[in-house]
Amino acid sequence: MFIIAELQKEDNVKSFVLFMRTRNLLLCLVSICGLIFAASCRTEQAQTESPPQNIEIEQKTQPKTIADDFAYPIGKTEIITEAKDKKDEWYNAQDFGENNHLGEDWNKNSGGNTDCGEPVLEAANGAITYAENAGLGWGNVVIITHKLENGELIQTLYGHLQTISKTDGEVKKGEQIGTVGNADGKYLCHLHFELRTENCLMWNKAGAGYSAERNGWLNPSDFIDSKR
Ligand SMILES: [Zn+2]
Repeated sequence: MFIIAELQKEDNVKSFVLFMRTRNLLLCLVSICGLIFAASCRTEQAQTESPPQNIEIEQKTQPKTIADDFAYPIGKTEIITEAKDKKDEWYNAQDFGENNHLGEDWNKNSGGNTDCGEPVLEAANGAITYAENAGLGWGNVVIITHKLENGELIQTLYGHLQTISKTDGEVKKGEQIGTVGNADGKYLCHLHFELRTENCLMWNKAGAGYSAERNGWLNPSDFIDSKR
């Protein structure tokens, strides 16, 4: 009897140990699952708290004000027009499309470097997208993004600037953004002026200034004359 009782006791102890081991294993698995779940929740939270970068870029380049009125970016902007070249104070020395030119070269009638340092004015309401020295052949460049009344975006580019007055934020039509320059001494002073649509390959970039492929570029004077 004593031996049987001892054997039963030993069996009970073994069962108890087995039970405890199984229980501990299950508890351990539950804890690991909990940790993995908590970590995945934290990752999801982190992803939802920081907006994707492209939204930030989109917000930066979306102007707050509508560009419903345009003017030439030089001289007395309200009266300057390509139609009066040589009859008003400024003229377009190299037209859009001439020699594969992607913009217009605006010079003062008085010639040479007499236009160095003349104010370059914003063609319409918009937001500054790019304002820096774009290197050899360009000098300082400013690009402004404009939102038209129909919601479409366009960009105007001002090249070879001697100085840049403003590098960030919103601008109003007629506001000074820089001065006429010579691309760090490469040319006689003039303003290289481009106008681009959103499908332009060089959107947000300075680009090349000349190309046989002009899809995405518009004739700046024709556009401005149609919007004033
Ligand atoms: Zn040019």
